[in-house]
Amino acid sequence: MTQTTIGIIGGGQLGRMLAMAAARLNFRTMILEPQADCPAAQVANRQIVASYTDPSALAELARSCDIITYEFENVPVEAAHKLAEERPVFPPAKALEVAQDRLTEKQFLNGVGIPTADFRAVDNQDGLVAALADFGGQGVLKTRRMGYDGKGQKVFRAGDAADGAFAELGGVPLILESFVPFEREVSVIAARGTDGSIVCFDVAENVHRNGILHTSTVPARITPTTEQAARAAADKLLSGLGYVGVIGIEFFVLPDGSLIANEIAPRVHNSGHWTEAACVVSQFEQHIRAVAGLPLGATERHSDCVMTNLIGNDIADVPAWLSRTNTLVHLYGKTEARPGRKMGHVTELK
Ligand code: AMP
Repeated sequence: MTQTTIGIIGGGQLGRMLAMAAARLNFRTMILEPQADCPAAQVANRQIVASYTDPSALAELARSCDIITYEFENVPVEAAHKLAEERPVFPPAKALEVAQDRLTEKQFLNGVGIPTADFRAVDNQDGLVAALADFGGQGVLKTRRMGYDGKGQKVFRAGDAADGAFAELGGVPLILESFVPFEREVSVIAARGTDGSIVCFDVAENVHRNGILHTSTVPARITPTTEQAARAAADKLLSGLGYVGVIGIEFFVLPDGSLIANEIAPRVHNSGHWTEAACVVSQFEQHIRAVAGLPLGATERHSDCVMTNLIGNDIADVPAWLSRTNTLVHLYGKTEARPGRKMGHVTELK
């Protein structure tokens, strides 16, 4: 029997964990990533070392793989469309288009009935001054594209001067969001299969440090009504996108328990890493099942847990984590522990 090969665009830790989950279900994996010996390639069957836009590399990926997926949302949309002419590409290119631009993302979310922070497109310094005036001088200014882990952002508190801020963020198209006075941040990891079925893992409560996810704790301290609202939002979003695969949706929880969507990630998500330790089927296996047209797995958690990211020098704590009981340690095969770099994570079952 010939084995099915899944192509994964992007070679970081998410691709690594997808490849590991794929192998357990008898799939072969091929990674497209310019960095040789990347985290994903270390555990995959093959790597094409080339840029994500290299036409001959994309043609080779299409030729060699039966299904194509990706591990990051900045895959060029044109590349996804080109590949989709040859092979099934999941999640669909539409999800990339929506998620790559914070303006399109918010418009799409609002369009399917999911509330977000109020927002204004900001295309120049005058536009920024006008938008800040609309929001009482407060707000979070973000680059529309390519921002991650809090990069490309500037927070305005009442009274802060706007002078030079447009140029400071690179003179690129921006969005000003109204400041959300949230009580906590949560996320839901959901999946939609090729048959349209939708499932959600339990909602996680997330704590960020320096704009980077620090911990995800499950269960989140939210009411059943809020939990239900997160699931309902996932349902609307995945149906609206005709989605196939796993998606992460981050929300702010307001003091009255209502939810404001912050951003979506059309891929497996850091705040879902806990599922590999506290659920029978992880988000990684769920994604592989979804894109391969297999039945989705159960999402119930068997344990409460806390996932902690190991960032930069946190890697030095690994021996201590390994000596703890009920803790799953997962390292990403990165040799250099630069500050802010995700080196691994641990999930402690409670
Ligand atoms: P993001 O890159 O959009 O996920 O933003 C990074 C972090 O900045 C979030 O996790 C929040 O803690 C904070 N933040 C972002 N947008 C807002 C907002 N509109 N109001 C308040 N805090 C925000």
